Amino acid sequence: MSLKIHHLDCGTMCPYCERLLTGHGSWTAPARMVCHVLLIETPSEGLVLVDTGLGRADMANPGQRLGQAFTALMRPRADPLATAHAQVQALGFAVDDVRHIIVTHLDLDHAGGLPDFPHAQVHVFAPEHRAAMQPSLLARPRYLPRQWAHSPRWMVHPLGGERWNGFEHLHPIPGLKSDLFMMPLVGHTRGHTAVVVRDGDRWLIHAGDAYFHRGEMDPERPWAPSGIALFEKAVQTLPRERVRNQERLRTLVRDQAGAISVFCAHDPVEFDTLAGAA
Ligand SMILES: [Zn+2]
Repeated sequence: MSLKIHHLDCGTMCPYCERLLTGHGSWTAPARMVCHVLLIETPSEGLVLVDTGLGRADMANPGQRLGQAFTALMRPRADPLATAHAQVQALGFAVDDVRHIIVTHLDLDHAGGLPDFPHAQVHVFAPEHRAAMQPSLLARPRYLPRQWAHSPRWMVHPLGGERWNGFEHLHPIPGLKSDLFMMPLVGHTRGHTAVVVRDGDRWLIHAGDAYFHRGEMDPERPWAPSGIALFEKAVQTLPRERVRNQERLRTLVRDQAGAISVFCAHDPVEFDTLAGAA
């Protein structure tokens, strides 16, 4: 069963400053970050989205919708053509062809497109659903109830699945026969998960916000630009788990290079490489 996989950037962000966020370049110019979304064509289960980036309402009025703090810091580019809603149609599909959405987590830059696909089933890891529906005071700015005010068709997934490559749980998705799995990688948020999908003879792992810069996956000399390292710590929920899961991911990259491609949600170089190859 072969899957056709499209890599979409559903929300370019241009936070200052390039030097802090990439480790090179200018101190005053903005950096570029993407919202890396997968659109997967399955043989019998319609289209599947992995994450949704920013949605139509976010693009129409970023400050009001996403909050002034997020908008000032991340500087999302308000481009209605970049939404998953627009890109799905630009590829010749109907919006309702998207039958499933798997979210790595429910932060505002990953869940923004949910209201644009009200009929899709939304797969989320149970601890994430709980954290987002009843957010702690600290978590309130990252989870926006207006992004799920349309009452999505949630499918909340408990922990389960088989061991796989050093990870405890490779969780199949009921109702989806395709080679698509959730692989919990908590830390950034309480119920953060990676999504694992077979792409021909290799596996793709969408690691969400388990890391932010490709340098962090360097098996020999992992590194992150200073601004990224600071940011990751500022927005983490479970610090020890985050660091441990990053290590496990790095081990996987080292041991399975060639058979597995790992990428995160926001690194533009990873995105360009995969989107260019696909
Ligand atoms: Zn994010």
